[in-house]
Amino acid sequence: MERVKVLDKEFVLSISEENILKAVEEVATRINTELEGKNPLMLCVLNGSFMFASDLMKRITIPCEISFVKLSSYQGTGSTGKVKELIGLNEDITGRTIVLLEDIVDTGLTISNTVDQVKSMGPAEVRVATMLFKPDACKKDITLHYVGMNIPNDFIVGYGLDYDGYGRNLRNIYTLAE
Ligand code: 5GP
Repeated sequence: MERVKVLDKEFVLSISEENILKAVEEVATRINTELEGKNPLMLCVLNGSFMFASDLMKRITIPCEISFVKLSSYQGTGSTGKVKELIGLNEDITGRTIVLLEDIVDTGLTISNTVDQVKSMGPAEVRVATMLFKPDACKKDITLHYVGMNIPNDFIVGYGLDYDGYGRNLRNIYTLAE
């Protein structure tokens, strides 16, 4: 089994690039069918989603736009507790179909807050496309319209996801070794 070291930790191969790309293809096919004629605006939530967004966009065949947003590193306080503020969204999204591109949904808190913030800006519709989903970790009742793969509740790196800033460049996904 292929192993990689990222900083002080060992990781083992979990999902190959080939299988990742098959899952991305399936998500793209669904978006191409379901959002035809809707001129969606994809919002790539940085940093972790950059690889997923890139591979997905290459497979989108309908007219669409992409923009890049980030969640502030500081936390404000909202009705649901601690909320990171969505920054970098400068366009008018009134009446638009928005597709949030996420790397991973774990507890679901981040995406749920992000969806609420985007909805408050008046879009016609907000959909979520996440490359990875940890169903056993999710605490929120959220609709994930497009999920690349369900994965166990283990810490992973690669394909945009980091361990302490490193490992985002790995083409495969690796899980923390025992
Ligand atoms: P949530 O709010 O759903 O619990 O967490 C979402 C964020 O936590 C993701 O956008 C990602 O940055 C981080 N995250 C969750 N699980 C993992 C993981 O297994 N590996 C890495 N590298 N980051 C993760």
